[in-house]
Parts: sequence; C-alpha cells; structure tokens
Amino acid sequence: MPLNFQTYLSKSACLAVCILSTAVGCAHMMTAPNWNAVAHYSPADGIAAAWDHAADLPSRTELTAGQLIIHADFPLAGQHRLVRDLEALRTDVSQELGLPISDEPVHVYLFEKPDRYQAFAASHFPAFPARRAFFVESDTKLSVFAHWQDRVAEDLRHETTHGYVHAVVPTLPLWLDEGIAEFFELPRVEQGLHREHIAHLSGRLLEGTWSPNIERLESLESAAELSQDHYAEAWCWVHWMLRTSPQHRSLLQDYLTDLRRNRKTAPLSVRFRQTDESLAESSSAVRVHLEKMASNADNR
Ligand SMILES: [Zn+2]
Repeated sequence: MPLNFQTYLSKSACLAVCILSTAVGCAHMMTAPNWNAVAHYSPADGIAAAWDHAADLPSRTELTAGQLIIHADFPLAGQHRLVRDLEALRTDVSQELGLPISDEPVHVYLFEKPDRYQAFAASHFPAFPARRAFFVESDTKLSVFAHWQDRVAEDLRHETTHGYVHAVVPTLPLWLDEGIAEFFELPRVEQGLHREHIAHLSGRLLEGTWSPNIERLESLESAAELSQDHYAEAWCWVHWMLRTSPQHRSLLQDYLTDLRRNRKTAPLSVRFRQTDESLAESSSAVRVHLEKMASNADNR
C-alpha cells in the first residue's frame, strides 16, 4: 500500500482522486492490481492548481463529446468508438441512478505513450502510486488522466463515471463511489455484470471468509483502506440495488438525490433498516443475489 499517499487523503475533502493500476485493470489497491481506486484529499494541498495549466498536459487534439472535453497528445477522431461510448455513458449513468445530467465539463487528458503519462503523473502528483489512470476532483474542475493501452476503454468508463456522478453529487461515500464506477466500467452489453467480482466474492463465500456487510463498507474512510473484497462487495451492493427490484433501485436513487441536497443525509444502512427488509435481510438478499449470479455464470 502506498502509505505516503495517505498524506493526501482526507475523508472530508472535496478533492477526489481515483487511480487505476499500471499493471492490470483498475486499481484502488496495490496488492491486487485489477482495480479502480478513488481517494479524497484536501484542496488545501493545492495540488490542483499545480497541474491545471501545466505545459505537459496533452493539447494536440481537443474535442468535445457532450459533457466531456477530451485533450489528447495524438490525433483522435470525434467519431472514435471509444469517444462515442463515453458520451453514451453519460445518459446511462443518469438514467440508472436517477440523476440529472449536468453540463459541468469533465476534462479527459489522454496520453499516447505511457512514459509521458507517467512523467506527468510523477511531476504533478508525486505522492500517488504509479497507476494506469486516475480521476481528480478539485473545487473547480473534474479531470481524468489516462494513457492509451489495451484496457483504456474500461479505465475511461470507470473514471468518467466518477466525473459524471461527481458533477451532480460532489460528495458521496467512498465505497459507493467505487461500487458505482465498477458497475459502469464494463462494456454496455454486460449490463453491469462484473464476472471478476462474482468469481472473487464466490470464492470468499466458499472459504467462509466473507459475507455482505454494508456498515463495514460505510466505515471506510480512505482509498488506502480499500481491498479487493471491498471493491467487489461495493459493486455487488450496487448491482443488487439496481438489478433486483424497483424498490431497491429507488433506495439507491433516493439516497443519491438526498446526498445532492445534504451530504450528511442518513446512510444507506439506516435506510435499509427503515424498509420492510431489515439490514440483516438485505445482507442475506445480497448474498443470495451473488450466489445466483455465480450459479448462472457456472452454467454458461
Ligand atoms: Zn474509481
């Protein structure tokens, strides 16, 4: 774990960083590099101001795709499938989560070569661990940074989801922020079904080393605490809420709507207790949901 990264983290901050691994996939974590990560750090750190007008930001191509302003250091066509996919993601995120569409720009900085991207990240975000992509929310700007590689589409879907969500819900719990991004990082055809997470959590269930616990997720305060279990479970709760019943979907949508108005609104665990299902019953239902998904995957 990048402990020096901790110095930038603060649960109360309005700057957020989501970081993807340089090794494989999204990476909130160093130990299992298939992961996305979001972390929060204080605007008092002044990091945002240091890079906002940096000369080494990609600037050869600039194109607008809906809410996105994409800056690349290589030719990139506005009709590129990846660009269109990210643009369509805006509507999907809005409709799934019941959130309005914002016009606040999300800047996407794309580097063609990993060495330029890594040099930029090392120069302007020196305390961050080496990652494949990351999202930064400052009090004035939403920005995604990535370099072009095999999994750039997945990385950008994850990070851009953070941008779309933060444009309308600036502050949300760390676990939920990541669970939502994990849900949307998959190709649209997957409908949020994350097979890696299903396989991981199923293994944990078989070992008897894990069971759903939303309060445990809600207690997480920094990205440094997040493990592969946390990411997978965060995704699982989000998938369960969005894919099992209108009531469960409404719980998530209402919560996000309330968070827009009041960042201190009661957490989801409290809301579950106020429903017909107790928190224990909800946890059990999430477990059953996971087992069904695992069974379906085994039968494919
Ligand atoms: Zn993330």
